[in-house]
Amino acid sequence: MMSKGRIFSGMRPTGRLHIGHLSVLENWVLLQKDYDCVYGIVDWHALTTAYENPEEIRYNTREMLLDWLSAGLDPEKSIIMVQSHVKQHAELHLLLSMMTPLSWLERVPTYKDQIQQLGKEGKDLSTYGFLGYPLLMTADILVYKADTVPVGEDQLPHLELSREIARRFNYMYKKEIFPEPQAKLSKIPLLPGVDKRKMSKSYNNDIPIASNKEEIEAKVRMMVTDPGRVKKDDPGNPEVCVVYTYHKIYNPSEVEEIGQSCRQGTIGCVACKKNLSRILIKNLEPIWEKREYYAQRPQLLEEILATGNKKASQLAEKTMEEVREVLGV
Ligand code: SF4
Repeated sequence: MMSKGRIFSGMRPTGRLHIGHLSVLENWVLLQKDYDCVYGIVDWHALTTAYENPEEIRYNTREMLLDWLSAGLDPEKSIIMVQSHVKQHAELHLLLSMMTPLSWLERVPTYKDQIQQLGKEGKDLSTYGFLGYPLLMTADILVYKADTVPVGEDQLPHLELSREIARRFNYMYKKEIFPEPQAKLSKIPLLPGVDKRKMSKSYNNDIPIASNKEEIEAKVRMMVTDPGRVKKDDPGNPEVCVVYTYHKIYNPSEVEEIGQSCRQGTIGCVACKKNLSRILIKNLEPIWEKREYYAQRPQLLEEILATGNKKASQLAEKTMEEVREVLGV
């Protein structure tokens, strides 16, 4: 029997997850069937941008675990781990840093952009850690010899760097230790925030996974509709409306009819939003139930992470034994 491919993917515990992340998690759940998956809560990565305010990282790590489990990640099928508990990530990061040309890191397209962008928010990212961020990502992947990484288009340059580093290492030390990880591009629908900007906790335009009926209703009421519609029976343009974008994703069986009624002015925005709230709540209720189940069982959460961290360490240690051997340390 052919062995399954191995996947590594992670998320930074920098704040509450929103329903846009749910599509990523649903993809991860599907991948559990065909791959051996390692899913990491990458808390060291969170520190690269939140080093001045680390207080919330532990809290966010627990919340993230709850979101992951409630979205259907199965600790029986996948390894669920916390990066800082598997020290081999750091060891490999250090060893790879010896042979990684500085220019490779400096030319990662997001590097300068992010320094500028986050600089405007008052974060000083001219740090050694931030420059090395894609290298730590590379170590996260290579330490498990993951051959597949689910990515969005924007992360392709990071993965290309990981592939180059794997190649360089194998070539330099004349041993095929690391597979070159392949991208598995996934089409994740892009959900706008309620105000039509990118969904983000910092804009307070997000719909968190961990919410409740009242919060969903309030957030949907805030959604930006067609500004050209003043009266309930004015003909509208659904294509400019956030509510409609959500109907497209969550309510495919009714979306055409809603679009038509909107254009003809036979449906009011209040009713249209109520319908969307109902559907979102129906989708989220099973997730909330599961979340509550796990939230009530802190012991179980600890066991899940302890088991995941142990399995991850064993895999990572095997790789590191080979790496230390070729490097003579
Ligand atoms: Fe948007 Fe619905 Fe109002 Fe049309 S009727 S503008 S789709 S909320």
